[in-house]
Amino acid sequence: MGGMTRFHNTMGGKVEDFVPIEPGRVKLYTCGPTVYDYPHIGNWRAYVFEDLLKRFLLFRGFKVAHVMNITDVDDKTIRGAQAKGVGLDEYTKPFIEAFGRDRDTLAVLPADHYPRATAHIPEMVALVRMLLEKGFAYKKEGSVYFAIDKYPAYGRLSKINLEDRRPGARGDADEYEKESVHDFALWKAAKPREPFWETEIGPGRPGWHVECSAMSAKYLGTTFDIHCGGVDNIFPHHENEIAQSEAANGVQLAHYWLHCHHLVVDGEKMSKSKGNFYTLADILAKGYEPSEVRYLLLSTHYRRMLNFTFEALDQARTARQRMGNFLGELKDVAGPAGQTASVEPLIQAARAGFVAGLEDDLNIAEALAAVFTLIKNANPLLVRGEISKDGAAKLAAFFKEIDAVLAIKPSPAIAASGKIGAAGDPEKRLEAEVQARIEARQKARVEKDFARADAIRRELLDMGIVLEDTKDGVRWKKAGPPKP
Ligand SMILES: [Zn+2]
Repeated sequence: MGGMTRFHNTMGGKVEDFVPIEPGRVKLYTCGPTVYDYPHIGNWRAYVFEDLLKRFLLFRGFKVAHVMNITDVDDKTIRGAQAKGVGLDEYTKPFIEAFGRDRDTLAVLPADHYPRATAHIPEMVALVRMLLEKGFAYKKEGSVYFAIDKYPAYGRLSKINLEDRRPGARGDADEYEKESVHDFALWKAAKPREPFWETEIGPGRPGWHVECSAMSAKYLGTTFDIHCGGVDNIFPHHENEIAQSEAANGVQLAHYWLHCHHLVVDGEKMSKSKGNFYTLADILAKGYEPSEVRYLLLSTHYRRMLNFTFEALDQARTARQRMGNFLGELKDVAGPAGQTASVEPLIQAARAGFVAGLEDDLNIAEALAAVFTLIKNANPLLVRGEISKDGAAKLAAFFKEIDAVLAIKPSPAIAASGKIGAAGDPEKRLEAEVQARIEARQKARVEKDFARADAIRRELLDMGIVLEDTKDGVRWKKAGPPKP
């Protein structure tokens, strides 16, 4: 059944048939979080898109090897640790933990490996040495730079204009604008008060880009199938990854480059100063379900800008409720009442539409439309009692089947918080809700928004939850019965 899966490849700028290197297997690398802050919903948009891609590949029978890096040393993490006066490990730990928690809450499948940059310094040094030996890199004042003049293929992914660059220009920053295309740092010389490693190429620390090149090669090999990220990764990050990897290894880094578009809030770029900056915990603290957030994040095609609004989140809630109500009614089907209709043609049409949509560069709108058409066509049959118990079971099984891809039912918060089969356990559900609010309160306090922090404390009190701020963090307990 089905045809060929097609994806839009940023490298060629067009939709192409997907042919894996090894039949039946997909090697997938997705750029992971830079753990200098709590992940925000813009980050989760990209990770949920990558999860949809991965789940669809699994659904189509591929085995998927998935690697996602954790950038725990770069300009931003170092700045953050310095500002707080703590070591890099201590600084990044809570953000790495928050990433894992949010991932489980949003029902994003874990990667096979989460290599941390700080644990792969020897691999990076080896790559930099290879680039030096092959003449693609040079040393300057203790740092090592990639010489883009030595690599004529530079710029293929982002289609930057190489004419604009100033010969010999180089920069140390991990991130920079297209307008200033220049030689970039592979290895940065040790600076006072900055973490550094003593290595064969001198004391220093890696540049951001070299982390992904070294770690993808270690876990997936020098050539793999799909490389994902957000559109803001195309330049300079992915361009530089390609230059480093392909110059060093002499083979193509990735066959397909998939990039998801930005998320904006109320039509504006998310920023803390505008007050439109949301983490997952912020949104859950407003009473939304994780699956509603997930539905919203995945229901806009990945190559379109996603405008996050609370109205859109309410619409996501309504759409999920329609599915939930339908499934609820299926459960209530008692037995055949008179003539029963065959649900098979409805299910087949929905499955075909669902698969055809996703095969077409993850056209989620078409896939979801097929599901809602099924609900629309089956509802009158349900109302008239024309669906047998057997037919209802088949419909429910179909929803279970497609939920392997969508993962919007049951509520991931319940599934994630109940590590040992506690789905539906109200205690676990309460725990997840309380935890989300506590995190939102912590964040408000960090941002010195004490009014909001207080409001959350009162909300929790209304739920019968008392907070205790201890030196080991926040503890919570249920309030005792009111004193007579
Ligand atoms: Zn990367």
